[in-house]
Amino acid sequence: MGKHLVLAGGGHAHMVTMANIHVIRDLDHRVTVIGPSDYHYYSGMGPGMLGSGYEPDDIRFATRKKVEEQGGTFIRDSVVGVDPVVRELRLESGNTVNYDLVSFNTGSHVDIPLIKGSRERIYTVKPIERLYQARTEIEALARQQAVTVAVVGGGPAGAETAGNVGQLLAGTSFSSRVILFAGRSLLSRFPQGVRDKSRRILEKSGVSIQEQGHLIAIHDNRLSFDSGHEVEADFIILATGVHPSPFFREAGLQTGPDGGLLVNRFLQSPDYPEIFGGGDCIYYKEQPLDKVGVYAVRENPVLFHNLKAFLQGESLQSFDPGGDYLLIFNLGNEQGVLRKKWFQMSGTMAFRVKDWIDRKFMSDFQ
Ligand SMILES: Cc1cc2nc3c(=O)[nH]c(=O)nc-3n(C[C@H](O)[C@H](O)[C@H](O)COP(=O)(O)OP(=O)(O)OC[C@H]3O[C@@H](n4cnc5c(N)ncnc54)[C@H](O)[C@@H]3O)c2cc1C
Repeated sequence: MGKHLVLAGGGHAHMVTMANIHVIRDLDHRVTVIGPSDYHYYSGMGPGMLGSGYEPDDIRFATRKKVEEQGGTFIRDSVVGVDPVVRELRLESGNTVNYDLVSFNTGSHVDIPLIKGSRERIYTVKPIERLYQARTEIEALARQQAVTVAVVGGGPAGAETAGNVGQLLAGTSFSSRVILFAGRSLLSRFPQGVRDKSRRILEKSGVSIQEQGHLIAIHDNRLSFDSGHEVEADFIILATGVHPSPFFREAGLQTGPDGGLLVNRFLQSPDYPEIFGGGDCIYYKEQPLDKVGVYAVRENPVLFHNLKAFLQGESLQSFDPGGDYLLIFNLGNEQGVLRKKWFQMSGTMAFRVKDWIDRKFMSDFQ
């Protein structure tokens, strides 16, 4: 008799499995995909959408359509709990779903500081789809008056977001401001050349970079930093680091230090062989992996192979994270910074390479 495979979250690591649901169906197994939206948004193009370089349709996958046209079931809901003993997922709606085999690709969520008072005009860089709402609201107000947009976070997501808000505001007639609060140091985990190139591009497009300290609280759109200084902004976008959902820990599953589902080289939970996972929500036991889409994409073929093999009682494949990856930031105004091993490049060409790769990825899976 066929088994029930449940994909919790239709993120980047499930792309190949979702494209091959018909293969699993042909083997007489059932497939259910659970996600909070009928679409999955490609994060690599999220800042570009915020800056109005892309429209939502350019950067999203029609998950529900793709699942249903292959005979799978799509449930629009969020997983909020898992009981690995009875093999049951608990959903936000209160419903439950049983599985024989489950794979988690639920991504990560932005760390949010203490917020008091109004939450209006405060956004996080994830979920990516909310960046579109940020764009339309910023554009609408910036057409009537000068606005101040505060982007908080000194990593790539903060830098890309600030640069693209700069692009968005460049088209308005009032003298609006973008301030990037980059902790104590912009892109501190990156080589000096990448940091200098990024800083130059951001400053040239009018982004003011502040490196006095970390955000501790927001009270009615007033930001307070641990250095003691305070700033008021019309819009706040938080890119203050990410963490996986807490439900792995709550379920008593083994997790990494960040709370991500611990998986072995087969991308499988060491405690429960019928639990797999990929992307930002896992902690890869063999070596910590950066939370970048590159790894989620590389995990795809192994995850698909292993899920199918598990259903069929065949042998599993090991995941090889591979070597150094190509990194390109889209810093707005068609300017990018590219790094691969020792090679670095910045400017329009770097942006164009990223744009080409991202559009190709979309057309391959859309
Ligand atoms: C602004 C920004 C720009 C970035 N740019 C790049 C880049 O250019 N290149 C790069 O390599 N990395 C980039 N990253 C990092 C990249 O976003 C992540 O590493 C990547 O998204 C991980 O893929 P994922 O599928 O694990 O998670 P996600 O992309 O977050 O996908 C998770 C999916 O699961 C769904 N989901 C979430 N919670 C639940 C739940 N509880 N139940 C069911 N479904 C759920 C979501 O709706 C989503 O569809 C960027 C990150 C940000 C924030």
